[in-house]
Amino acid sequence: MIVVMKPSATEAQIDAVVARLADRHLETRVLRGAERPVIAVIGKVSLDPREFETLPGVAECTRISRPYKLASREWKAEPTVVNVGGYAIGGPQLVVMAGPCSVESREQLLEAAAACHAAGAHILRGGAFKPRTSPYAFQGKGEEGLQLLAEARALHGMPIVTEVVTAEHVPLVAKYSDIVQIGARNMQNFELLKAVSEIDRPVLLKRGISATIEELLMAAEYILSGGNPHVMLCERGIRTYETATRNTLDLSAVPVLRALTHLPVIVDPSHGTGHRPYVAPMAMAAVAAGADGIMIEVHPNPEVALSDGPQSLYPHMLERLLRDVEVVAPVVGRHLPRPTRPTRRAHAEASATHSTQTDAPAAAPETLTAPTNTVAYQGQAGAFSEKAARQFFGPDASLLPNPSFRSVFEAVARGEAAYAVLPIENSLTGSIHENYDLLLEHDLHIVGELKLRIVHTLIGQPGANLDDVDTVYAHPQAAGQCEAFLRKRGWRVVNVYDTAGSVAHVKALGDARAAGIAGPHVAALYRMETLAESIEDNPSNFTRFMVLARDPAPRADANKSTLVFRAENRPGGLLAVLDAIAKAGLNMVRLESRPIHGTPWQYMFYVDLEGIVDDAAVDALRLTAPFVRVLGAYHSAV
Ligand code: PEP
Ligand code: MN
Repeated sequence: MIVVMKPSATEAQIDAVVARLADRHLETRVLRGAERPVIAVIGKVSLDPREFETLPGVAECTRISRPYKLASREWKAEPTVVNVGGYAIGGPQLVVMAGPCSVESREQLLEAAAACHAAGAHILRGGAFKPRTSPYAFQGKGEEGLQLLAEARALHGMPIVTEVVTAEHVPLVAKYSDIVQIGARNMQNFELLKAVSEIDRPVLLKRGISATIEELLMAAEYILSGGNPHVMLCERGIRTYETATRNTLDLSAVPVLRALTHLPVIVDPSHGTGHRPYVAPMAMAAVAAGADGIMIEVHPNPEVALSDGPQSLYPHMLERLLRDVEVVAPVVGRHLPRPTRPTRRAHAEASATHSTQTDAPAAAPETLTAPTNTVAYQGQAGAFSEKAARQFFGPDASLLPNPSFRSVFEAVARGEAAYAVLPIENSLTGSIHENYDLLLEHDLHIVGELKLRIVHTLIGQPGANLDDVDTVYAHPQAAGQCEAFLRKRGWRVVNVYDTAGSVAHVKALGDARAAGIAGPHVAALYRMETLAESIEDNPSNFTRFMVLARDPAPRADANKSTLVFRAENRPGGLLAVLDAIAKAGLNMVRLESRPIHGTPWQYMFYVDLEGIVDDAAVDALRLTAPFVRVLGAYHSAV
């Protein structure tokens, strides 16, 4: 049963309900959600909900129809986000766990870790205690393997995930690892589940080879009810009659789990397929299905691996896969963050003897949000820019809404915000010219970019119908992207300069004839009604956002540069600059011109280039262009 309290319920009222349930020898968990507190009554309950509905502060009491309670969405509607070493698993950012099946030797593990880190993996995997089908197979290196994992963590700032196979080893494995894995063979080892329920470490719970989704969730319930809320589920294939693959990777489990539980879902296509060539396609499919992360086995030398060589990727295959994932992620509203760079401390630890610090779990590595994590964006809660900022910077960033693009630039220039996230180009409607002009006016640097898929929804009053609508309040960009939909209906379109703001405006009007256009998540945010879904004319609708800061980005990660120049006003003036760019070996991927304010019919040219523009290239450009400024060298997904 769950007791849903009123948003206005006081702590005393919550305590009174908990005390009354305790009198009946019932255990409770209180969840202070974003909207209202909820009390879960765990275990078998044979109470009349009406008895509690009359208590002060109580909104309603309902029975949870499922055998699992704390794992259910009914108990906790918002997704659970598990924080591991600076990565938020279950939020808008995808997480990649990669590494060898087993820790075999120091050389093998350190080589694998370096390769996985370089390829873009966030978390290092590797088994030190191996549950093997055959008693004659390699059983793992035990504590020595854990020490090697800790050494690799210190070197690369990568948190580690490793399996525990017996309850007695739980404290030892927890001491060394950032995530404790329960393997498929132990999913229903209830004593082991109880043991990990008592530790202060996230748990990755793999689905048993013949377990139903309900059994997986019941196993998670053991860990949650024992007091450990940091549980992630892992689909790794189940046993079916099919023999072409080692297991049958049940990707339908991803949306099913998403509907039934708030816990993050990771997919392991390595054990799921058992064959190297099938791993990358299924990893991509897992991301498309909505997984929060993937777990991939990678070995520097799979032919000589002591376990699971045939399903282990070569490091270059992981790199290729993650490049593809980076591009696919925005289609399903996700972002693949760059792995955080190892901290200075991690370098220091690595070069010191590894006896003192290496068995401590990874400290949160330095992230792009350090030292301050404030990010300015234009619009208000629910704006696409807010979504982009959240995807790029993760859940811990503090986001500052701003009324205009100009005020976003100023917030960073003044130091009120460390970063800005601003739209620069839409794949259908083209450049956001104002931001090009503002780039020139301010002395900020482009330090990153991301692409967000834009899906538009028509949103109106609760209870309103599409037929009631005669006026649409919309951002001109949004209206432009839904032009065919709007034209067909002949509605009056009124400009508002914020997508989420258009919905707030419509709400304030309280008129069923008015509707706004915003992202699908905005209706619930403002408690309004979705009148029509996916109304953009073309589903291939992406907006590219740039991330700005006062200081340039670290060069190590950069693969793209943007610069702005003015050409000489003579025949071939522009050609001379473009020729200098070509001679510098830089591939120009975009050219945009903007009028120079106050000098009619003269233009500034903005170019995006693949690669990093070094000082020599800038000097060469200056020989032909009277004005050149590098706006940034940064990492781009494509
Ligand atoms: C593993 O991840 O190394 C492993 C043994 O996986 P599973 O428990 O899914 O077989
Ligand atoms: Mn394995």
